[in-house]
Amino acid sequence: MICGNPEPVEFLPDEGVTGSEVRSVQVATDFAGHYDVIVVGGGLSGVCAAVASARTGARTLLAEALPFVGGNGTTGLPISGLRARNSDRMIVGGIITEILEMLLARGGVGDDFSTKEWISIDAEQLQFVLAGLLEGAGVELLTYSPLLSVARDQKRIGCLTFYNKDGRALQYGARVVIDSSGDAQVARLAGLTTPMGRQRDNRTQTMSLVFSVAGINEARAAPSDVISAAWNAFESAVENSRRDPAVNQIFGRPGWRSFIATRVDVEKGTDNRLLAKAELEGRRQVDEFVSDFLRKQVAGYEQCFVAQIASHVGVRETRRISGLYDVTARDLISGRKFDDSIACNASSVEIHQPDRGLPQWEHLKDGDYYTIPYRSLVASEADNLLASGRCISGTHEALAALRVLSPAMATGQAAGTAAALCARGDISAHQLDAESVRTALRSAGAIVD
Ligand SMILES: Cc1cc2nc3c(=O)[nH]c(=O)nc-3n(C[C@H](O)[C@H](O)[C@H](O)COP(=O)(O)OP(=O)(O)OC[C@H]3O[C@@H](n4cnc5c(N)ncnc54)[C@H](O)[C@@H]3O)c2cc1C
Repeated sequence: MICGNPEPVEFLPDEGVTGSEVRSVQVATDFAGHYDVIVVGGGLSGVCAAVASARTGARTLLAEALPFVGGNGTTGLPISGLRARNSDRMIVGGIITEILEMLLARGGVGDDFSTKEWISIDAEQLQFVLAGLLEGAGVELLTYSPLLSVARDQKRIGCLTFYNKDGRALQYGARVVIDSSGDAQVARLAGLTTPMGRQRDNRTQTMSLVFSVAGINEARAAPSDVISAAWNAFESAVENSRRDPAVNQIFGRPGWRSFIATRVDVEKGTDNRLLAKAELEGRRQVDEFVSDFLRKQVAGYEQCFVAQIASHVGVRETRRISGLYDVTARDLISGRKFDDSIACNASSVEIHQPDRGLPQWEHLKDGDYYTIPYRSLVASEADNLLASGRCISGTHEALAALRVLSPAMATGQAAGTAAALCARGDISAHQLDAESVRTALRSAGAIVD
């Protein structure tokens, strides 16, 4: 496939709407280079994918729509926790551990992180760490660049075109592509199957706009369970009940708490018109929570103020790729260990249901864990497309566990390693022997089983 010609950018028909009109426009493009591996999406899974790919010897480009990397891990502000172990051992390693150690050196995580089941991290410190990690690995970074179109020749993805402020789009060629966009954006633009949401009605999990407040009087501050009980009483008087607020105390930030206390339900998180409404609704709920509830009703919070709002509403679920294997919730809850396992995880299934009500949980047996198969990262309809993070191949229920940070980073490292091995051997992701990925991951410190 030859890249570099002005290429028609095709706006695809609306998902699930049969007969909707397809319009095409021509955009002028400049050919900007050829890479062994291009990673689309610089969330935590994309960063780990790009770092692993570059370290495995591939010339690697990481393209990100926003000005900076980290995705929901940084833009979504505080993540209440990152699970790195089951009860008796660490179940993730490799790049995740490096990130945690780099955070520790900057005071962005508590020094007891290796013994904790939940690790609270500082999202701002994370931005410095990720930048250093990418630079050290020799990844080329292209930010401000949403992917616009993907050219596909039969089962091969070749040219990726990215928006450029200059007015002429930038086109790149790749031998192997990794979809780390969270939205399966590469697969979607390549015209591949991209399931979304629940099997019965395609509805996805709800969104939340995360925010932080400062100015708390620590000596008098009510504990989380008291805040939850007070909020539930406050909410019983309002029409649409939301959820228990998750209160997160970030290491090293006295007088500061972060909250997941908003619940925004739109039909899908891939339509900008609905996202625009979601942003407004999220902010309305933040204002209500702080002005009408926290400051008036919670001890120690009388003088608190909104210190930070996440840069955009946190989207838990949109599309996913259709891979060689669809992970199911049963695989996870039964603690299944796959022969082609490339990562371990112990997160529960946590579904923020679109039909209201509190999140629905399903837990593994205490101390157990499950593994994630290589096949769930490989797009079934393309030879050279892998996925990582929250858009790997699995059911709505399974992704309610696999979408979180540790598996996102671990599947990122696995996809990056696999992509570089494919590029080096000039073979498709379908032909690649999972054992070679497992061996490379183990020698890079990852825990694969
Ligand atoms: C409110 C909320 C609370 C959460 N709490 C926790 C928690 O406590 N613990 C936990 O472990 N996890 C939590 N999560 C989940 C976790 O934050 C994410 O699922 C995880 O960050 C997913 O990482 P990712 O890299 O797959 O995707 P994302 O972080 O979504 O990254 C995708 C990246 O791709 C970019 N992108 C998208 N489209 C394009 C395009 N066309 N071109 C170029 N770039 C593109 C995006 O800008 C983004 O940077 C939470 C999520 C939410 C929403």
